Amino acid sequence: MPQKVQRVKGVNDILPQEAKQWQALEHVVKQVMDRFAFGEIRPPIFEKTELFARGVGEDTDIVSKEMYSFSDMSKSSLTLRPELTAGVVRSYIQNNLQQISPVQKLWYEGPMFRQERPQKGRYRQFWQFGAEAIGSPNPEQDAEMIALFYAILKELGVEKSVTLKINSVGDSESRANYRSSLQEYLRPQLSSLSETSQRRFESNPLRILDSKAPNDIELVQDAPKIRECLNEVSATHYAEVLKMLEVMEIPYVQDDLLVRGLDYYTHTIFEFTSDALGAQDAICGGGRYNDLVKDLGGQDVPAIGWASGIERLLLVVEALQPLMAESGLDLFLVVQGEELRVKAPKLINDWRKAGLNCDMDTLRRSMKAQMREANRQKARYVAILGEEEYDQGVVQLKNFSTGDQEVVLFEKVVDIIDEKL
Ligand code: ATP
Ligand code: MG
Repeated sequence: MPQKVQRVKGVNDILPQEAKQWQALEHVVKQVMDRFAFGEIRPPIFEKTELFARGVGEDTDIVSKEMYSFSDMSKSSLTLRPELTAGVVRSYIQNNLQQISPVQKLWYEGPMFRQERPQKGRYRQFWQFGAEAIGSPNPEQDAEMIALFYAILKELGVEKSVTLKINSVGDSESRANYRSSLQEYLRPQLSSLSETSQRRFESNPLRILDSKAPNDIELVQDAPKIRECLNEVSATHYAEVLKMLEVMEIPYVQDDLLVRGLDYYTHTIFEFTSDALGAQDAICGGGRYNDLVKDLGGQDVPAIGWASGIERLLLVVEALQPLMAESGLDLFLVVQGEELRVKAPKLINDWRKAGLNCDMDTLRRSMKAQMREANRQKARYVAILGEEEYDQGVVQLKNFSTGDQEVVLFEKVVDIIDEKL
């Protein structure tokens, strides 16, 4: 016997029943994006490796160990996108989007690829939706971005079980200030830091705050806080963002250890976490990236964005309330009689054209088996068609929930079902 091919480790099949939940979530996302005046962008799934090396940062976990890279026939190195901010910014620059309007508000949805150790809530192909606002340096743009994700949580009915953690890493001057005071604090204990943190001590000391090594965690508890090293411009920006969140009644907690894994952040950074999840508790992460557009060869244009993991968000939604699980089938056509096999498809096609969700048997099963199938699919109505009915232009229309059955003309079926829906 030929061997079965298994799916690749760390990727998922999303089957039809589950896909309904996804569609319901996507519907909410799309609606809220429209309300906030964000336009959808669909960049490619793979890009030149260089884009991520430069755009995400060589020293990040993503670029240093998680990318799916390959070379194509022209021998150039390509990479399956591990995130989409770099791709959106590349597209913004390449398509001169700043010429259309000085602020571009874009959103996206799609699969991302990272070679991580698979576990609950952590996959090698996973889905994100996200948003980027490119063009405004002002705190009201930060506040709008956060309000946008909060609105989606509210629409899903899960905002109460989610925490917004926020921090600021300031502008480059503030980060330089902080970098030296953090290094000064850590230097005497350098040798007791984890290997990774020792390596980052020079290259990217802020990331040490993010370390998962128990000893590092303890050490950084008493480290100086970035907040205290912000220069006036940065401190004012941050304070105004917090003020706007308060005015909009969006609860937050300040997290002094929040630095986020990517190199490109400036000023506001944030994460939404949920207690409904285990170790992988982040459902959304983002922040301001004022230098990225310039670093990728565009003009000096500030921006802010976030991305949310759909699998994790769905786990939170499921833990609280199923989005929807109802069958969408209006009508199942049960056919009895050889002759009708050629005629029934036209009938069901007409109902489908009129907008009904219909199905019929294609296995030539018995009438009893067809009724069972209609039942399994939770059809709201069954139309029973025999030779005699066909000759009179009628079906026996049975309402599955009440059991009522009536004789109905072909052309009246749609009206009757629409009326009772
Ligand atoms: P984590 O700390 O959990 O690794 P991250 O900081 O790497 O998250 P981001 O790059 O900010 O995550 O991506 C934004 C969101 O995408 C995360 O908050 C999470 O919901 C989701 N996400 C990231 N990596 C994965 C993954 N491997 N599998 C499933 N979802 C993921
Ligand atoms: Mg990660």
